[in-house]
Amino acid sequence: MAGTAPDQRTLLRDGLIVDGTGGAPRQGSVLLDGGRIAALGNVPKDAGAAVDCEGKVIAPGFIDAHSHMDFFSASENPHHFDSFTAQGVTTFVAGNCGFSPFGFAPNTKYRSLLEGSLFKAARETIDWDSFAEYRELLGSLGLTHNFVHLVGHGAARTSLSGFEARRLSEREHAQLLALLDGALAEGAAGVSFGLQYKPGVFAKLDELDDVARLVKRHDKLLTVHAKAYSSFSGTYPMIPFGRPHNLKAIDDMLGLARRTGVRLQFSHLIFVGSQTWKTVDEALELFDRAIADGVDVCFDMFPYGCGATLLNTLLPEWFMARMPGALHNPLARARLRLEAEVGFRLVGFGYPQIQITNASCPEYDDHNGRFVPDIAARVRKSSFDTMLDILDKSNAQARVLFHDYYNDEIIDRLMQHPAAIFATDSWPELGGHQNPAAYGTFPRFLRKARERGSLSLEAAVHKMTGAAATRFRLGGRGRLDEGAAADVVVFDWHDVRDSVNDTGNASPSGIEHVFVNGQAILQSGELNLRRGAGEVLLS
Ligand SMILES: [Zn+2]
Repeated sequence: MAGTAPDQRTLLRDGLIVDGTGGAPRQGSVLLDGGRIAALGNVPKDAGAAVDCEGKVIAPGFIDAHSHMDFFSASENPHHFDSFTAQGVTTFVAGNCGFSPFGFAPNTKYRSLLEGSLFKAARETIDWDSFAEYRELLGSLGLTHNFVHLVGHGAARTSLSGFEARRLSEREHAQLLALLDGALAEGAAGVSFGLQYKPGVFAKLDELDDVARLVKRHDKLLTVHAKAYSSFSGTYPMIPFGRPHNLKAIDDMLGLARRTGVRLQFSHLIFVGSQTWKTVDEALELFDRAIADGVDVCFDMFPYGCGATLLNTLLPEWFMARMPGALHNPLARARLRLEAEVGFRLVGFGYPQIQITNASCPEYDDHNGRFVPDIAARVRKSSFDTMLDILDKSNAQARVLFHDYYNDEIIDRLMQHPAAIFATDSWPELGGHQNPAAYGTFPRFLRKARERGSLSLEAAVHKMTGAAATRFRLGGRGRLDEGAAADVVVFDWHDVRDSVNDTGNASPSGIEHVFVNGQAILQSGELNLRRGAGEVLLS
């Protein structure tokens, strides 16, 4: 930026420049001037305060392509972001899986449902009514990182019909589209679906098609948490020897993209349970075929075999629709128990793969971090009864890590797929066991690339920077270039790694400096909190 004082200039001197485009690395320096990259390559050595980068990689700041941190950015406490700063994240794409902190009808009688959502963590009440008011709040608090916001279909729908298990009336349907339309017009980057959560699970394809057409009209992105990620899921009818449900869910969403022409982002492509792993080939073929046919689709992924969600996502749609009464109904319980037994066997998943991270109720909080069979043995109940008791006492708010989402070979294959971009899909757990992805995702991707040779350095960096910026159309981000935003990470390619301990904390090593819009938020590995460094990126 012209006229910036020299002391606002930082010279990242003599590193290996990996510019985010996927192109070959080259040796050189990068000059940050204010919020921009002023020069790179051969830069005079006295151009600004120098940071010695010899032997280090200089790369664009990492873009978390699938985040839920929007609920934390409204918090007074900026330290929720520390674990992301430490792994090199400079930009979050938030509002995923149908959940966003705006896009709801201001006069809704369901505000408490919105406030009690999966990501309520940061603030007790939602005391704003619109995207603009929410951004005002963020502005007054001062963002530490950049944010791209999607508007959640689930948030809009909740504000109209709560968690009622039904189709929307014609009037509600029109209101839903108007709410989403308004947020898109205000600068949201797209719409997100959460089809395994209430109320997205109750939406039929014709409703989803209309939302997709709206997104297409705005030429923005539709991200989808699909209806199933395991070969058998309660969100679809149970048909013996039928098509695996996770493939059916992919069919449904690719079909929607084919019908409507919408740009589609398939969220966190996971394969829950070892039996589901057999479907990886066919799933990737479905994506490949769609791409060959001209469908604009990508997916995001994380590098851990576990992922965080709510315990109640295990429940079939019929049971969810009858919560909480069904928890105490012997017939409903008996049917659920039987379906769980069959379903778990079909999927290759079960109680040993369910780790309670935050039971969200005093009776079970001592068991945070334990797996269900372990807790069951301690409370002298069956695993099934323990699970339902936790659901009941937590008012269905209990949080979990589910395991066996991937094995290492599947992670390698997905990382190498041209449609893959990288994401944490995580947030810090306030009290309780941590999701390692909130701490170590990007260092772990880099480590996998280095140790397993799954990707070259520049290809791995591309998928966490330039490719994500292209996907979300973040002009001037995700690459190192003259005039681009000064979002930059300096790391040690030979040492960068995550390291998981038994509380799930996977704080990394090897990430040395992080700049957001030219301001250092991590210096020599030390956190350096800068309120106001980040901004909301509107599209
Ligand atoms: Zn999701």
